[in-house]
Order: sequence, then structure tokens, then C-alpha cells
Amino acid sequence: GSSRSQTLELPFVAPALRQWLSSPKPLFIGGRWQEPRSGRYLTVTDPATGEPLAEVAEAGEEDVDLAVQAARRALEGSWGKLPPAERGRLLWKLADLVEENAQEFAQLESLNTGKPVTETTMADVPLAVEHFRYFAGWATKWTGETLPVSFPGEYLAYTRREPVGVVGAIVPWNFPLLIASWKLAPALAAGNTVVLKPSELTPLTALRLAELVRQAGFPPGTVNVLPGYGEPAGRALVEHPGVDKISFTGSPAVGRKIMTAAARDFKRVTLELGGKSPNIVFPDADLDSAVAGAMMGIFFNQGEVCCAGSRLFVHKEHFDRVVGAIAERAGRLRQGPGIDPMTQMGPLISRTHMERVLGYIERGRAEGAELLVGGEPNPEAGPGYFVKPTVFLGRDDMTIAREEIFGPVLTVLPFESLDEVVRRANDTPYGLAAGIWTRDVAKAIKVAHRLKAGTVWINGYNLLDATSPWGGFKQSGIGREMGRYALEHYTEVKSVWVNLG
Ligand code: NAD
Repeated sequence: GSSRSQTLELPFVAPALRQWLSSPKPLFIGGRWQEPRSGRYLTVTDPATGEPLAEVAEAGEEDVDLAVQAARRALEGSWGKLPPAERGRLLWKLADLVEENAQEFAQLESLNTGKPVTETTMADVPLAVEHFRYFAGWATKWTGETLPVSFPGEYLAYTRREPVGVVGAIVPWNFPLLIASWKLAPALAAGNTVVLKPSELTPLTALRLAELVRQAGFPPGTVNVLPGYGEPAGRALVEHPGVDKISFTGSPAVGRKIMTAAARDFKRVTLELGGKSPNIVFPDADLDSAVAGAMMGIFFNQGEVCCAGSRLFVHKEHFDRVVGAIAERAGRLRQGPGIDPMTQMGPLISRTHMERVLGYIERGRAEGAELLVGGEPNPEAGPGYFVKPTVFLGRDDMTIAREEIFGPVLTVLPFESLDEVVRRANDTPYGLAAGIWTRDVAKAIKVAHRLKAGTVWINGYNLLDATSPWGGFKQSGIGREMGRYALEHYTEVKSVWVNLG
């Protein structure tokens, strides 16, 4: 129809996807597509145009309750009784199905988030597929242990790893499919059931995934997908007494609310929150790689990345050369709708978010930061929420160097000595990630050990793999996702004693 997005008219969008988008999407509860009890639908927007992309059911409290009940029934019924190998087989099957539909997922994610389709094709979708496969393997390999107890007598003492139960998974809008896979895969491998609440802004790939969950043959209720707003749907999930654990990725402000609410009944909580990650270029770095890494560190996914390398510390010796190269390249990035394969940087997710990012840019100027490139909207890229790649020369105490902007805004900061840069890099309430660029192996490793961050990359940035644990020090979060560490948070440990006397 004429109300649909202009980008949908572009030749890039596959006809099957166009067709899929044209019908309103109900909720996925208990293995069936159900109309929302709330009676409400929300409109999903194409951030490249600001126009409607799809209509999606909006879950209310009653819907959340129904989904939690369905998840409980699956846990105590068919899903709970499946042998671990069968859980693994289903996860593997889901991975295959996502892979078979990879192009459609890549386009859908790109349309909904605005991010370049080259990125969703190379990163979001294949990483999600690998995540399901990695945890498919763990279903049969996550074991307890026997314990050499010294208590007088003779005992067999051992531990079991039991599922936590019903998991509420709350996901942000920046990597909707990938982050959903980070939660679903370990939760299901460990035998839990899940109620997934995608972001109200980006529910589309989660709904498409639900279709494949059904096709793969997961027992009804094992996975439920409920698009909706933080209030009431997210809050209802967090407060529901039938939910045993909340796995949340999003802003620190909402994370704090969730932890507070969860304290009432001591729900298990893991939180993946924000960041203000340092990226450090030492004078002995391969400068070309460092420049490319700094660019990718901040402009990948429009800077809407929790681990964005938003504070770039560059040694004085090559400061002008490195920063000059970054500003020059940033000015040349091709901005446009993500769905266009030529696009290198897409729009921001929403008008509200664009205004927030522009507000930070204003603040940078007002506090005396020197604008090197960008610093304004880019209407030439399209009618949507485009902000130009922006680079500031700033100081550590400026707002743009302290707060998470979650946009394509880099603050470059000169430094002179190693001890100084380590101290400054750690001078933040966050601790999600950090980058180091140097050819000196010993220096790289020593600095990596001194940085207070959950992940440190040496001569690289944004490197992620299903096997490598992900999470924050300090206010960047609690717990870890990915790798076998994720399984810790999706299981309870039970000690069993057998008196052999
Ligand atoms: P957000 O906190 O606004 O929303 C995240 C999710 O929480 C959404 O699904 C939202 O609907 C829901 N929500 C909102 N209020 C709620 C409430 N009261 N109760 C329950 N749920 C509620 O975050 P966002 O804007 O979607 O995402 C951006 C943030 O996410 C950034 O701070 C970013 O750093 C962080 N993030 C972190 C990681 C990580 O791995 N550490 C990854 C991606 C994004």
C-alpha cells in the first residue's frame, strides 16, 4: 500500500519478504499465533524513511501471563522431558533453518534497524546461526561433577546442572536477532523455556524466528515471542512470579529498574548494559590497521553498539596523522538506507534517538570540543534519521567523553605515557570492552591485563564469537553471555548426597 516504506519499493527487497511484511503479525504464545488480549497493535517504522514498515501485535500484561503459563507447561511437560540430545538436535535444526533463510533475515534486519545489509549478511545473521550451533553442542556436554567429600561415613556426592526454569529474555534494538540468539541458545541448551520480548522498535526478526522455531518442531510453549513496550510488557515479565530468571540487554537505566524489581522475589538476573569503551593507539602500532580499526570501532552499526570504541586515545607522536586519516575517511563514508548494498552507514533507529545523539553533539560543541568532521543530520542520505559520522577532538572531562552516546560520534583524546593512558582508559563507570593497537607483544598483554573491561582486543576491534564470553565489568553489567560461561547463568547447581553406609 501507499503507506508502506519507500525502501520497500526498491529492487533490493525480495518479493517473499515484501509479502511477509504486508500482513500484521500476532503474538507467538504456546506454539500458536494469537491475537493480543490487549487488542493493540504497534507500527514498526523504517528508520531510513520514517514510514511504516509493518504492523505487529503489542503484548499487554494478560498476554505476558499467558506466555509465562505456556512456558511453564512446556518446562514441566514435553520440553522438560526431552533428552538433552534432542534439545541439541532442535537447536541445530533451528540454525539450519535460519541459515536457509539467511538472505531474508539479513534484509529484514536491515530494513527494521537501518543497518547496512552488508553487515547483517556478514555479521548479524551468520553469528546468530553459529550461536545456535555452538550451544546445540553444549546440550549434551554441560555436566555436573562427583565430589570427594570428607564428611565421616561413605557417600556418593555429586552435582547436577538443572535448568533455572522460565526465562524472560528482554532484547534491545541494535542487534535484535543476534542478541535474541545469545539468550535463546544457552537457555534452551540448558533446558529452560523462554518468553522473549524484543524491542518495540525492532520485533521483526524475532517474529520471523518464531516461525522457524515452530517449523523446527520445538514443543509448544518452549519459546514464546511477545513484542511490546518496556511498559507494560517488559515490566510485566520482570514482575511475573512465574518467571525464574531475567536476561536483559539494554540501557543501564532500565537495567537498574529490572534489578530492583527482581530483588523482590530474588529472580536470577543477568544484565548486559552500556559502555564507553577506550580504543588505544600506541606510537608503535601499525597505523593503517589502527585507523581502520578505529573507524570500524565507532562507525560499525552507526555507532549503535554497546562496545563502540567511542573514546579513541592516540599517542601524541602520530596524533595528527591518525586523527587526520580518520576524519578524512569518516567524511567519505557512504550513508543511505541499510537495505542498499552500497550503503556503508545507515540511519539511526528513531527520531527520538537521533535527537538524543544531536543533543550530545551540541553539548560537545558547547563544552569546547573541536569538531573535526560531521556534527549534523544528513538529509541527503534520505528522509529518515541520518546523522553524519562525527569526530571531535575533546578532553576526558567532557560529556561526550563520559556518557554513552550510542551513535556515530567519536571523541579523540591525545596521550603521552602508558601509565597515563591506562589510568584514563579505566576512568569510567563502564567496563565492557577495550582495544589496544601496538606491535609490542609484551606491552599489549600487560596493558590488556590492566584494563578493567570484560573483553580486550589487541590489534582488532568488534571481534565476537560464540565461544568467547561477553559481558561487563563495573556498570556495564552482571554475568556473562556466550561461551560456556553463559550456561552458568542458565542453570542451578544441585548437590546430591547418597549415604552409602
Ligand atoms: P532500553 O533499555 O531502552 O531497552 C531495552 C529493552 O528493555 C527493550 O526491549 C525495552 O522495551 C525494554 N524495557 C524498557 N523499559 C523496561 C522496563 N521498565 N522493564 C522491562 N523492560 C523494559 O535499551 P535500548 O535503547 O533498546 O538499547 C540501547 C542500550 O542497550 C545501550 O545502553 C547499549 O549499550 C545497550 N546494549 C548493551 C549490549 C551488551 O551486550 N552489553 C548490547 C547491545 C545494547
